[in-house]
Amino acid sequence: MPSQPPQHQAAGPDAPPRAERPERPESPESPEIIEADWTWIGDGFAPGVQLRVASDARRLRRQALLPGLVSAHSHAFQRALRGLGERFPAGAGSFWSWREAMYELAEGLDGAGFERLCLRTFREMRAAGITAVGEFHYFHHESRDRHERHERHERTGAPGGPGAPLDYALDARVLRAAAAAGIRIVLLETYYRTGGFDQPPAGAQRRFASPSPAVFWEQMDRLAGCLAGPAQTLGAAVHSLRAAPPEDLAAIYEESRRRGLTLHMHVEEQRLEIADCLAYYGRRPMQLALASLPAADGLTAVHCTHTAPEDMERFLEAGGTVCVCPLTEANLGDGLPDLALPYRRRDRLNWLSIGTDSNARISLLEEMRWLEYGQRLRGESRGILRDGGGAVAANLLRAAGASPGSSADRGSSAIAGSTARVSGGGR
Ligand SMILES: [Zn+2]
Repeated sequence: MPSQPPQHQAAGPDAPPRAERPERPESPESPEIIEADWTWIGDGFAPGVQLRVASDARRLRRQALLPGLVSAHSHAFQRALRGLGERFPAGAGSFWSWREAMYELAEGLDGAGFERLCLRTFREMRAAGITAVGEFHYFHHESRDRHERHERHERTGAPGGPGAPLDYALDARVLRAAAAAGIRIVLLETYYRTGGFDQPPAGAQRRFASPSPAVFWEQMDRLAGCLAGPAQTLGAAVHSLRAAPPEDLAAIYEESRRRGLTLHMHVEEQRLEIADCLAYYGRRPMQLALASLPAADGLTAVHCTHTAPEDMERFLEAGGTVCVCPLTEANLGDGLPDLALPYRRRDRLNWLSIGTDSNARISLLEEMRWLEYGQRLRGESRGILRDGGGAVAANLLRAAGASPGSSADRGSSAIAGSTARVSGGGR
């Protein structure tokens, strides 16, 4: 991936009006400059912006240029479910019936098949203008039975533990696929301990599981040595409070903060998980997370489909950010998050990012449209996510370019992305 940052130069007041500018030939004047009719420069489109890139100079007519977009939440392997599960012979489906199909897929995949799926997804993202991905990676183990043997060893000292460590072999495959596709990745290595509230992992879930935060961080240390250059960074994730007890969330949050890593977690995508959490802990997942953590800086809550507006407000006040995935949430019949209250208090969408999640369709432009349209349908009015100047596009593009990484990463993914986008589109 080219690393040279783009240099842009907006047309200043002295630049001749667009109509008077001499026509440029289709063949480039310089091999290192591209110029589209319109280029997004952060708060609006501007004409006459020239980008200096490493190669592939060209003049883009009747086109507008955007920075590289970011899918802040993805499970690349779930692309294999695309088109499946869209027939409902047994009656209406749900997230939970879709999850069974996902488990079936995870049960049957081998390492090479998993890597091929990741590569196909990442290449499709590149073709769709996505140049950085936050891969929320919970599917770790190539071997199907080692988790059980490892657990037994931990419990009883029976043979099989040290000789059959959890392999985490799929982690390196994600990184390899991202490098091959030329996409910048924040690998959000995901902690997954329980199959439900206080339930051991079962079936395919055993290929996701880590037995303790200590084992998880050991793997994070190993992964730090597997990164292929500056286009690959690490973040942490806790799958959900279904998949980890709150004390493990607290331990992983503390260590993530100590290491300066971002932390992501699925929160309140489904009403049933909220009901189960209320029954088990007497609190909703967002309330439980807030009660378990000293703050929410560096924590991104993914979905928040059924989060009470006052809980989301408290979470944002505590420093958290939110990632929504409108196409997946629609595809799975999740519901629509209520963004109106937190949004009314902050007219810039700098606390919101967008993910392609199940990758049933990969289009950040469509995600952006549905982010606003979903809020229109919910609020029965238009222009919900407009900024102070009344523009919706600026806010949506801000959300679609938000980095999934740490605050140190913020901004650099968009810059690296736009460089890669404009100079490497054919790869
Ligand atoms: Zn997800």
